[in-house]
Amino acid sequence: MKGLLIVLSGPSGVGKGTVRKILMEDKSLNLAFSISMTTRKPRVGEVEGSDYFFVSKERFEEAIKNNELLEHATFVNNSYGTPKSYVEKLRNEGKNVLLEIETNGARSVMEQSINDPLFVSIFLLPPSFEELEKRIRGRRTEEESIVQERLGKAKKEIKLQNMYQYQVIDVTPEQAAVEISNIIKSKIKL
Ligand code: 5GP
Repeated sequence: MKGLLIVLSGPSGVGKGTVRKILMEDKSLNLAFSISMTTRKPRVGEVEGSDYFFVSKERFEEAIKNNELLEHATFVNNSYGTPKSYVEKLRNEGKNVLLEIETNGARSVMEQSINDPLFVSIFLLPPSFEELEKRIRGRRTEEESIVQERLGKAKKEIKLQNMYQYQVIDVTPEQAAVEISNIIKSKIKL
């Protein structure tokens, strides 16, 4: 049976990456993470081909032109996109594919998946905006102007939470992962 397509969004710094890692460890969910292409430079600790495919602007433009991307979007001056054939291949193998993407890309995937019963969208929220700011600053990898841009973007993204089928509050990543895995399990059983 074809796998589920799961879109997970949430403001920058909310902890999507940590939740994703916990979910990926639960083998019963049969998840595969869709590795995106980005023109952003790697952060310390990020691994090519595992966190992202880090590419040049030219390579990204070529991917758009060749229709290689399921969706793509610009986020704080960088481009991000989901490789289409990889997602399809994994779903056809029965894997439940997790897309961790921002709201514009998510909207595009939602529009394309309108008739797909094996589609689910989830928005991860911080317990409060103050807590989100603390988490973004706690990362200490970015300069102030970027932090401000990400916070501004986060405010706009949070307003779009109702576009998603489910909203999950990330009080702790462990608890958020349990809620998301319950959503996934309920969809798989259908
Ligand atoms: P970051 O730079 O923090 O890794 O990612 C910035 C934002 O881009 C996050 O909200 C992340 O979920 C999103 N993102 C990552 N990959 C993709 C993608 O392939 N497409 C879209 N639309 N957004 C992505």
